[in-house]
Amino acid sequence: MAFELPPLPYAKDALAPHISEETLEYHYGKHHQTYVTNLNKMVEGTDFENSSLEEVIMNSEAGVFNNSAQIWNHTFYWSSMAPDGGGAPTGEVADAINSAFGSYDTFVEKFKEAATTQFGSGWAWLVDAGSGLEIMKTANADLPMKHNAKALLTIDVWEHAYYIDFRNARPNYIGTFVDSLINWDFVAANMAS
Ligand code: MN
Repeated sequence: MAFELPPLPYAKDALAPHISEETLEYHYGKHHQTYVTNLNKMVEGTDFENSSLEEVIMNSEAGVFNNSAQIWNHTFYWSSMAPDGGGAPTGEVADAINSAFGSYDTFVEKFKEAATTQFGSGWAWLVDAGSGLEIMKTANADLPMKHNAKALLTIDVWEHAYYIDFRNARPNYIGTFVDSLINWDFVAANMAS
């Protein structure tokens, strides 16, 4: 059975003006779709053809790993954002953030630092590594499940994620993600899963 591009959890213009419809047309419609197309070509006729996406990610390397992990990462990234998202969380997520980082402001500082300083293409994450929440950054397609950590939230810092809307200004994109886009309900659901 072929891998498929999962539907976006909102309309392509739902994150505007923060992230434009044009960005989602390219980032979801072209980049994410291409990872799906490439993976299906690569696994055709191999043992991975009938594996779950997670099984492929955990047992592959090189091109098969890169494309399978990027499918997973992007699906997770779309759900990490919501229209009218962002700002400080409440409830159990707020408690977990305060417990791990001392305050929401310190979490923001450390999350922004990780996302800004990931050199070149990659991702910044909020994860549960078994002893509370932590911030992680990964290069290229790498992801927390390869490091025994559970992903709770991610931001894509590949240039294709922000170049249309923010040009080279990665910090402005990261600030907008934190202030206006983070889907804390998704974080809460991941913490409870
Ligand atoms: Mn991307």
